Amino acid sequence: MSKTIFVSNRLPVTISRSGGRLEYAPSIGGLATGLKSVHEEGESLWVGWCGLPEETLTEREKEKIDRELRDKYHNIPVFLSQEDIDDYYYGFCNRTIWPMFHYFTDEIVYLHPLWQAYRKVNREFFERLGDIIEDGDTIWVHDYQLMLLPQMIREKFPDTSIGFFLHIPFPSYELFRLLPWREEILHGLLGADLIGFHTYDYVRHFLSSVRRILGFEHNLGYLHVGNRMVKADVFPMGIDYDRYHAAHGKRSVQKEKQEVLKKAQGSKLVLSVDRLDYTKGIPARIRAFSELLRSNPQYREKVTMILIVAPSRTEVETYSELLREIEELVGNTNGEHGTIGWMPVWFFYRSFGFESLVAFYSAADVLLVTPLRDGMNLVAKEYVAARADEGGMLVLSETAGAASELGEAVIVNANNIPEVASGLKTALEMPENEKVSRNKVMHKRLRHYNVEFWAGDFLKKLNEVKEKQDYSSLIKVNRRTLEKIVRAKQAAGKRLFLLDYDGTMTGFRGKPEEAKPDRTVTGLLEKFIADDKNTLVIISGRDRDTLQEWFGSLPINLIAGHGMWIRETKGEWKRLELLSNEWKETIRPILEMHTARTPGSFIEEKSYSLAWHYRRCEPELAAVRVNELKDALEDMTSNLNIGLLLGNKVIEIKDTTVNKSRAASIWLNAEEWDFIFAAGDDWTDEDMFNVLPEDAWSVKVGSGISEARFRVDSPDDIRTILKALAERP
Ligand code: UDP
Repeated sequence: MSKTIFVSNRLPVTISRSGGRLEYAPSIGGLATGLKSVHEEGESLWVGWCGLPEETLTEREKEKIDRELRDKYHNIPVFLSQEDIDDYYYGFCNRTIWPMFHYFTDEIVYLHPLWQAYRKVNREFFERLGDIIEDGDTIWVHDYQLMLLPQMIREKFPDTSIGFFLHIPFPSYELFRLLPWREEILHGLLGADLIGFHTYDYVRHFLSSVRRILGFEHNLGYLHVGNRMVKADVFPMGIDYDRYHAAHGKRSVQKEKQEVLKKAQGSKLVLSVDRLDYTKGIPARIRAFSELLRSNPQYREKVTMILIVAPSRTEVETYSELLREIEELVGNTNGEHGTIGWMPVWFFYRSFGFESLVAFYSAADVLLVTPLRDGMNLVAKEYVAARADEGGMLVLSETAGAASELGEAVIVNANNIPEVASGLKTALEMPENEKVSRNKVMHKRLRHYNVEFWAGDFLKKLNEVKEKQDYSSLIKVNRRTLEKIVRAKQAAGKRLFLLDYDGTMTGFRGKPEEAKPDRTVTGLLEKFIADDKNTLVIISGRDRDTLQEWFGSLPINLIAGHGMWIRETKGEWKRLELLSNEWKETIRPILEMHTARTPGSFIEEKSYSLAWHYRRCEPELAAVRVNELKDALEDMTSNLNIGLLLGNKVIEIKDTTVNKSRAASIWLNAEEWDFIFAAGDDWTDEDMFNVLPEDAWSVKVGSGISEARFRVDSPDDIRTILKALAERP
């Protein structure tokens, strides 16, 4: 039976040494909670580092840990030496990837030995996994410490489902390109079938890096990597909502809350909770609180800040410097604003347990969370959930991943200290009913999109991607399928044929004189229309004059300009919608500039679109130019109703209200068809495939992801199919 294997840097069970004894403490962190139900049901294992350096363990202890973790917790430990931990975890992970992915360029170190340690440890994880993976297993790898692992697994175990989730931001291409090992990292990640991120921005950044560094195109997040399809998608991680929501009512929590309130002596409470990290923006936050007191003297002795900083990564020098800076700022703020009976900032440099944290959450009037960059930020979500009274107010910076889901909070720019101070004031003074109505919306969202939903959603999507992959590898038309298609046609009364032309019926593209249909094609079409059970529609991106010249003399239906113009058998051409072409004046100069710089390329102007062909260009140069052009066009067209269509060696810019689905639907809805056959080769044809009924015989020419049911290699194969269909009535 196939199993699910989770892999993360740390196991969800932490081992520590107390005296001579080893102690096991299961983690209640977000990830462990989210995966708990999957981990407990069915056959599932979790692989990760156990938390102790290998040198501190005897061989017997290692065996014991191995056995106990496996038997009691279904955990498989990876043993790492102190040197590995220093160079891989504290080194490459936390001094290269962490600052880079959080946009702290000054903190990034580029050291080859640290990279080697990263590779080595990823391989050690892989070797551990190698003993337990079997064909058909699902492996879900977590986070930035293990980005090379998916590829390693893919190479040795191609018949597995591999998911990867990044819990931190993915930076913009401009930053990611600085990494000397950028290709290796991207290839490592692309070994997965599904790559998940917290927000759309991170997905966008990842796809842009993949395109610009490796040259892999994507369509709606689907990438084609060799002959495999990989999906990048958004899965904002939730929290264990019920646990936080219910804790509010616990007597022990209420008791702690009362103690906090008593100590506050009626002062309003602003809470701040983070791990010690420069990404969290703690110094700026203290400055903003100080600014609030400075510009609002009425708040003195009336508003107190509880600043909780949980120790973290103190082995890295930057973190100890940060701690000193925080201590100094707290001292200054308390010195500047404090009075004999009142200390403006209560500073706790320690970690609190779940119940104490909930007590703080429920006592605080405002939670101030202003990371300069944060993949998600769970504290913000926990605060909202823990307020069973739907009270309190969250002030959140826009650079926290959570901001894309918690838009009802007071949103601020973490670098803008006066803005944070005034956001804090807004939250403190917000009328009770407004707070409740904003919080209600957030509660509803957090309750639904909880951590269990997140994990289930990811695994479901992974399964879907796998099914889609299997499907695309299945669909090649062979003799038997051809026979089935012919028989289905023969049995049918009313038959509809929707055929793309360029790339589907002919291999030539580009200039009309080269792609003109030859005698074989026109002969085939004539045979088709001789049978009056057949309705034939050529559905093309070409302009109507070209189609008229090529096929005008035949009594067939024509669709030109991807659906802009239609001509029914021998009738007149009709325009489907009147559109403005003003956008062309903005776009044409960009295309002209690229044409001038790219020998062999040319612009084709169609009635409602512009196409840039690069079929005859030197491929390396074309690849560079295509990326540049796409970037320029995407920027220019973002506010217009204009879309980019990536065809085969052509970029077409056109009004998005025009597409092949609209035109195809006219014929699809016109009759009750007994047999539908459709063929196309590029993304413009996907619009047509998308609107076909499930039993339609749809064929894509060439490789690539498609909504079609079948695939053939070339236009010659399509001609073979059409010939069989035409000649066997
Ligand atoms: N946390 C805790 N005790 C503390 C401070 C924080 O248990 O004293 C927990 C907090 O409840 C949250 C996690 O640490 O679940 C921090 O997650 P977040 O996403 O906010 O930030 P990260 O530390 O992952 O960057």
